[in-house]
Amino acid sequence: MLVSAKEMLEKAKAGKYAVGQFNINNLEWTKAILLTAQECNSPVILGVSEGAGKYMCGYETIVGMVKGMIKCLNITVPVALHLDHGSYEGAKACINAGFSSVMFDGSHYPIEENVKKTTELVNACNVLGISLEAEVGSIGGEEDGVVGAGECADPDECKMVADLGVTMLAAGIGNIHGKYPANWAGLNFDVLAAISAKTGDMPLVLHGGTGIPEDMIKKAISLGVSKINVNTECQLSFAAATRKYVEEGKDLSGKGFDPRKLLAPGFEAIKATVKEKMELFGSVNKA
Ligand SMILES: [Zn+2]
Repeated sequence: MLVSAKEMLEKAKAGKYAVGQFNINNLEWTKAILLTAQECNSPVILGVSEGAGKYMCGYETIVGMVKGMIKCLNITVPVALHLDHGSYEGAKACINAGFSSVMFDGSHYPIEENVKKTTELVNACNVLGISLEAEVGSIGGEEDGVVGAGECADPDECKMVADLGVTMLAAGIGNIHGKYPANWAGLNFDVLAAISAKTGDMPLVLHGGTGIPEDMIKKAISLGVSKINVNTECQLSFAAATRKYVEEGKDLSGKGFDPRKLLAPGFEAIKATVKEKMELFGSVNKA
């Protein structure tokens, strides 16, 4: 059964650990993440970007696939199906399609417009018991095709949006999407501490979890981060394992060309990455 991310994140905030959001791209990705969550007895959030939504043939297809897998694989840990960086229209579409959680990324709007649209979605989500993530201060790296430097959010604006009744809040603290450049300045913990002080119990979300050093992840969790998004890292481990299989010529031997064999090493690599992250975030045995 799909659940809202509210309860799992409130428990994470209180228990000083974080729940991972792992983005999905296809059946193998989804199966690998669900099985790992079950094996680790960890709550999990499946992230779907609007681009991945289109790739997987729409939100209804995804809801059907995820619900079918939860049943077929006997997944009993809490699973939230979450729209990542949704537009206003995308969030509405996912609410209608049966997602249990959505993110509305209004960070590129002026704060007044972000507040207005977020408020409308808070009301729509509350009626259905769906969790809602809002964003203040755009996160660097490539987001919707725009490459940013890793801005820091204004703590007062964070408080304003947190008070609208959203479930969780993403705030830029110098984090960026994708691979971090060699000259990256690191996370800004002063800003994170200020946001945390202003927003109290609100679970905070750290985007761009790929490549942030472990000590920074742990410090961010201690300062109120309760959800960490991982996307690129699973893509890199999948690609490396698939490359190795092909470079070793295994697709040319016997029935190695069978997609169920060809994609197996990448599948196992995603599982290993997800497990490593769940251990780092502290969500193992917190289901
Ligand atoms: Zn993000």
